[in-house]
Amino acid sequence: MDALNRITALREQLRHHTQKYYNEDAPEIEDFEYDALQRELRALEAAHPEYADPDSPTMRIGGNASEKFSKVRHPYPLESLQDVFSFEELTEFFDRTEAAAGTAEYVVELKIDGLSVALEYENGVFVRGATRGDGQVGEDVTDNLRTVAGIPQQLENAPPHLIIRGEIYMKKQVFDELNAALELAEKPLLANPRNAAAGSLRQKDSRVTAARRLSIFCFNIQNSEELPLHSHVEALDYLKSLGFPVSPSYSLFHTPEAVRAEILRMGESRGTLGFDIDGAVVKVNRFDQRQLLGSTAKFPRWAAAYKYPPEEKETLLKDIVITVGRTGVLTPNAVLAPVRLAGTTVSRATLHNRDFIRNLDVRVGDTVLVRKAGEIIPEILRVNLDKRPPDATPYEMPRVCPVCGAPVLDDADEAAMRCTGAECPAQLLRNLMHFASRDAMDIDGCGQAVLQGLIDAGLVRSAADLYTLEAGQVEPLERMGKRSAKNLIDSIAASKARDLSRLLFAFGIRHVGQKAGKILSSHFGSLDAVLEASEEALTDIRDIGGATAQSIVQWRAQEQSQHLIQRLRKAGVNFTGEKSAEGGRFAGKTIVLTGTLQTLSRKEAADLIERLGGKASGSVSKKTSFVVAGEAAGSKLKKAGELGIPVLTETEFLQMAHSDPLQEPPQ
Ligand code: NAD
Repeated sequence: MDALNRITALREQLRHHTQKYYNEDAPEIEDFEYDALQRELRALEAAHPEYADPDSPTMRIGGNASEKFSKVRHPYPLESLQDVFSFEELTEFFDRTEAAAGTAEYVVELKIDGLSVALEYENGVFVRGATRGDGQVGEDVTDNLRTVAGIPQQLENAPPHLIIRGEIYMKKQVFDELNAALELAEKPLLANPRNAAAGSLRQKDSRVTAARRLSIFCFNIQNSEELPLHSHVEALDYLKSLGFPVSPSYSLFHTPEAVRAEILRMGESRGTLGFDIDGAVVKVNRFDQRQLLGSTAKFPRWAAAYKYPPEEKETLLKDIVITVGRTGVLTPNAVLAPVRLAGTTVSRATLHNRDFIRNLDVRVGDTVLVRKAGEIIPEILRVNLDKRPPDATPYEMPRVCPVCGAPVLDDADEAAMRCTGAECPAQLLRNLMHFASRDAMDIDGCGQAVLQGLIDAGLVRSAADLYTLEAGQVEPLERMGKRSAKNLIDSIAASKARDLSRLLFAFGIRHVGQKAGKILSSHFGSLDAVLEASEEALTDIRDIGGATAQSIVQWRAQEQSQHLIQRLRKAGVNFTGEKSAEGGRFAGKTIVLTGTLQTLSRKEAADLIERLGGKASGSVSKKTSFVVAGEAAGSKLKKAGELGIPVLTETEFLQMAHSDPLQEPPQ
């Protein structure tokens, strides 16, 4: 490929990823992959100045201000930083700097991985906050920024005008907590803290932003020339004195060697920080030297961002262990011989799911290449087949849940495998939350916190335990008290009378949602009838598909489900529902149509059978309940005679269909 083609291709690729990253907060590639593309393009553009383009991604900052927000023109551009990826490149930065500005002293700061904002204060009052956008024009996110703890709304002893630049980020702990809650609600998870922070800040509803508990570090005074400040350290000290959170460390270094040592130290401490960083920023300290150095269209010449390279090392995969998530999903994890990578000791890596293991063909005993880039979770890149022990065997996912022993459902629609245990301890909280939820058993005052309290106190190990609770047991729990305890017990008791459709939904059987609960309830009228119905009879019900029928059959066959049902029965939970008037007339019956009917077409007759809960079958067997014979009936009629199966005329069949539903059809 010639240079121009490659340049064009790279520009296109980078534009696509820029759009995904900045405008949609949904990157498709890792940062270091993106950086490698940028670097390749930069090198090509440097070698071919004839193809220069001011619109090239190497020349542009960030993304675009979205139409969702009103736009803010930044009085001072929000520049980017020049990246350096090695100490050689860093040395070049020092050389350039000192050639232009003389011997310099440097500040080294953590490069926090979040998104850049500008905060504007007038007479000490926070009046405006904006995202970086393309560096010139950003999005007005003032209301959202007001929800960020750490941003002072009002400053004391402030100058008349102040513009601060900072990085909004999400602490790892907050990120983990939000994802745990999303997992519980079976909602899509946040990809990483950086995107979570960006997505959370760019919300239309600032209550959503508030719930995301964002944080900020401030790292620059944009209009510092209006203040009696002479250096970056003075500026940071001043910001601190005004109450702004600043980067936790910003020491001064007098030689490039000392800077390098500090960068290495920061790199080593990466794993212990409560937030993600994607590098270290080296900045010339003195403002007069910064002035001499100036800026390019994209970044200041007085600073450089050192990006820590992703680290890769080989290690031994000692074991594969399965964790069961709160929604029952089985996740295989690699247990590794500990290796030091990107500032942390790595001894675990996710293997995602069965397909991932199959594709890598990773086996216990293998030597694997592990990578950790920035702060992302370590991943296994490949297996070193030369080091594979001869007895290593392909890994098989367990067929039963390692936590509760229930069979694992291998859903063809999903890569995930799930535990089906109705009382699986790993899923207890989620199952209880679902059981008690408004659309299921509707137990008032039985939300996540209360349920967690009941579980922690060892009072509840299954939904059935709710019905044996006594007020005296519940009362001592946190934030309970006499009155709430009584209310809770009363609402649990009230839930015993709920309709069968709700109970069926509350069980959380895969594919049995509210609608299926209603259909099953009105078709069968009782839980026992649902439990006894054949898989065929279930499949034959309109709107109940094969997968649902199969999952009901699997669920009810399990010991845990039977145990749950038995205990709910004992507790007096209602097992009946309102059976629809015509529902179930032919429930569980297999009916064969033969010959030509007078008033109904074959299809109409079959529909009628199905509507009334029966199954229309094409062949006569011992399982056939009865045969409806029209004119010119042939071999099927004969077979029915041989097997002693009752035969009805069309008239008898229609009478049966429309007769009193309580009257039994022929056996
Ligand atoms: P940058 O990340 O190289 O640096 C500039 C930013 O660093 C500033 O905007 C500032 O907000 C931030 N920063 C954090 N701490 C700082 C500190 N202490 N001092 C000064 N600035 C600090 O440049 P960029 O243009 O913001 O973004 C490029 C980054 O985004 C790269 O890391 C790139 O990998 C990533 N990116 C990734 C994708 C993708 O698809 N994965 C796409 C686009 C960009």
